[in-house]
Amino acid sequence: MMTKSKIKLSMIFPLHFFMTLCLVSILGVVSCNKVNEKKQIKPINRFNEMRLKMVEYQIEARGIKDSGVLEAIRKVPRHLFVPDNLQDLAYNDEPLPIGSGQTISQPYIVAYMTEILQLQKSDRVLEIGTGSGYQAAILAELVDSVFTIEILPELSKKAAEILKKLNYENIYFKVGNGFYGWSEKAPFDAIIVTAAPEKIPQPLVDQLNVGGRMIIPVGDFFQELYIMRKTEAGVEKEKKLPVRFVPLQGEP
Ligand code: SAH
Repeated sequence: MMTKSKIKLSMIFPLHFFMTLCLVSILGVVSCNKVNEKKQIKPINRFNEMRLKMVEYQIEARGIKDSGVLEAIRKVPRHLFVPDNLQDLAYNDEPLPIGSGQTISQPYIVAYMTEILQLQKSDRVLEIGTGSGYQAAILAELVDSVFTIEILPELSKKAAEILKKLNYENIYFKVGNGFYGWSEKAPFDAIIVTAAPEKIPQPLVDQLNVGGRMIIPVGDFFQELYIMRKTEAGVEKEKKLPVRFVPLQGEP
């Protein structure tokens, strides 16, 4: 009898032991997944918080009121447009390097230039200087179509990749010298120039609709931001802010 029950027990134990092991490892995997999930979610929340604070303290506090512009900046994940090692600085009050000697503009300047264009949903907008693609994303949140030109192919390619990943389908890219605009797609309701020429490029003025607006930094070391409006009578030009942009390359 004793031997019989001993045998029975030894048969049950391994099975029991095996089942416990399975349960522990299943629980282990589930809890490991939970840890991983947390690890993935935490930074995203952190960037969301940083972005909301940026809008409040850097943008609204300086007088930007257009609700569409504020909403677009609250939505677009700016940290994905800067190099990985600079993501923690993406919501700071400063421009940042994006490679090839170029920069993504300070968030406030992006907001200011976008607001002053007084965009309508149906507008066709031309951007000169795609850079990281961040400004193009902000524009694409507000209007039906954005045409953006970049002189450096590697930057245009990188920007197109990230904007595709973020599901923007209303941004059209061109590699070339933005000084000449994009005559095949003209006229535009608004033009935003994010690199500074020494003089306002005439082709850009020509490609603006009557009623169209252009925001453009002009100058060499000392630059001023100008807003221009094209009317039936001609072009009005107003000086707004001293700024510092990278130079527009390849001016004739
Ligand atoms: N709007 C960009 C910032 C751009 S910085 C953003 O949101 O990140 C200015 C960009 O203009 C640079 O990428 C630079 O390579 C580009 N650029 C300079 N000269 C140009 C030209 N003639 N035509 C088109 N792009 C030009």
